[in-house]
Amino acid sequence: MSDCLFCKLVSGEIPCDFIYEDDDVVAFNDVNPQAPHHFLCIPKQHIATTNDLQSEHAQIMGKLILAAKKIADDRGIADDGYRLVMNCNQHGGQTVFHIHLHVLAGRQMSWPPG
Ligand code: AMP
Ligand code: ZN
Repeated sequence: MSDCLFCKLVSGEIPCDFIYEDDDVVAFNDVNPQAPHHFLCIPKQHIATTNDLQSEHAQIMGKLILAAKKIADDRGIADDGYRLVMNCNQHGGQTVFHIHLHVLAGRQMSWPPG
């Protein structure tokens, strides 16, 4: 998707320091962090929203969570815990239409979210 911000980060068209990369997934720190740790795990493949998911995407979605777990382990935040969030469309608060898994950690999260 030529007009997708996160596709441009994946392709290198817009510079970005990846904190994790494998064949299918990259992760990077959120530019507007909502917690001491706030990073995003995204598929390299463009998928706009969770509404666009098909059965063929099952493995990639699992890989997003495995990447989040690995980064949390590497940062030493796994035991204290973290929150995984994926927003969809307007009511979900989605602003970038390329699927991304938010990983938030380093402070107590509240429930329910705002
Ligand atoms: P959402 O509202 O769930 O679509 O989340 C989009 C997230 O992307 C927000 O938390 C933004 O701060 C973050 N974001 C937008 N542009 C960038 C960027 N260039 N690099 C890192 N994070 C970004
Ligand atoms: Zn994209």
